[in-house]
Amino acid sequence: METKKICYKCLLEELDAGRILESVKEMIDAIPQDNRTGSEEYRRRLNICKDCDSLISGTCVKCGCYVELRAAGKNRGCPDVNDKWKVG
Ligand code: SF4
Repeated sequence: METKKICYKCLLEELDAGRILESVKEMIDAIPQDNRTGSEEYRRRLNICKDCDSLISGTCVKCGCYVELRAAGKNRGCPDVNDKWKVG
């Protein structure tokens, strides 16, 4: 089976939704385990994003990131001035 490389130079309009999700998952898988958010914290972050007005089609309009990718980075934060992912 042929392995396709991620196309970093493609526009979203050139990718189908399934391919975008596949690309995001590949990028998450490429994050070293030490730098990856644990599954419980990952789900907590995404649940906050789902209730946030800044989430549009999987993208955070505050930073332009795919939230599933941003949330997967252990040391990444929510870009909102109030950091909605902050605990406590
Ligand atoms: S502002 Fe924060 S909580 Fe809202 S979508 Fe962006 S990353 Fe998620």
